Amino acid sequence: MHPDLEKLIQLQKVDSEIASLTAEINALPKHVKQIEAKLAKAQARVEKAKAAIKADEASKRRHEQDIQAQNDKIAKFREQSSSVKTNEQYKAFLGEISFAEVEIGKIEDKILEIMMAADARTAELKAAEAELKADIAEVEREKAEAHARTEVMSRQTKELNGQREGLRSGVDESTLQHYDRVLRGRGTAIVQAIDQRCTGCQVLLRPQVYNDIISGNVVYSCETCSRLLYFVPDEEAIAKAAEEAAALAHSSEHAWMFVPGIGEGGVFAVFANSKGNASMKSYDALTGVFLEKRVEKNANYQRAFAEQLREARNLFVDEANLEEMYKEQLPPEILQDLQHQLPERPANPQATSPAE
Ligand SMILES: [Zn+2]
Repeated sequence: MHPDLEKLIQLQKVDSEIASLTAEINALPKHVKQIEAKLAKAQARVEKAKAAIKADEASKRRHEQDIQAQNDKIAKFREQSSSVKTNEQYKAFLGEISFAEVEIGKIEDKILEIMMAADARTAELKAAEAELKADIAEVEREKAEAHARTEVMSRQTKELNGQREGLRSGVDESTLQHYDRVLRGRGTAIVQAIDQRCTGCQVLLRPQVYNDIISGNVVYSCETCSRLLYFVPDEEAIAKAAEEAAALAHSSEHAWMFVPGIGEGGVFAVFANSKGNASMKSYDALTGVFLEKRVEKNANYQRAFAEQLREARNLFVDEANLEEMYKEQLPPEILQDLQHQLPERPANPQATSPAE
């Protein structure tokens, strides 16, 4: 992959982390305000309970003053009634006195009501004060947490900014400007190309462009959404191909074949690549007698003996170094085993071609 693209992929990760940290840092004061609002509510409840108690006390005092006023009136009536001339006048004073006494009774009822409600008022105040105390503790705790979290995030952001500068430093200036512009506008600036598509906007890419992106030698941006494009090879497929190649390389070092076109009934041949040279050693397929060994220098047998291999049939021999071992003749059990692997065993030189 182009080194700029590798850096920009990392840069985008770092930029995205910085963005989410910054958003979280910025959200914290709002969170603190919210919990402080809760505190204000509890504070208001306390104030309200206190005010209610105060109001009750004030009206109790007022009522007591009213009683005093009524009592003063009664005293005054009594005094005046002692000097009245007529029975009617006397009765009138008595009427006033009893009216005042009824009033006093009414006011006393009101005072009693207030006194009875006082317990509930006190309980309400106590509850409100307890709630406020708990809320204050919670707010303090949350504020401390927010403060600590902000510090951690600020430190992380600082570290990421350091990484960011490092990543940016090696990238081509105009590519960097392009990245910044697209990131601002679209939120992502570099995306993967998969199945000939830009995964940013899903638009199909021209085959030539896609091939260039796969090659990784150039920096391309999507013609539709302007995002930079990169290609990630399928790791699984690559691993599998490597495995297959390794298996092939291993097996190709040494192979037993039946080659029908040579001699009377074909030959059993062992092909090998060794020390840069290719060799083909053949034995008569009927008798197992060694025939010849051919060596091609600086070659591999797949290429050097391509003509023989075209007609050859793969065989299995479970001994590794037969080539070294059997110089004159294949041992009978090996010969038999090889012959058994042919669909039609070579019976004698006059028989039909054994490979067919
Ligand atoms: Zn696109």
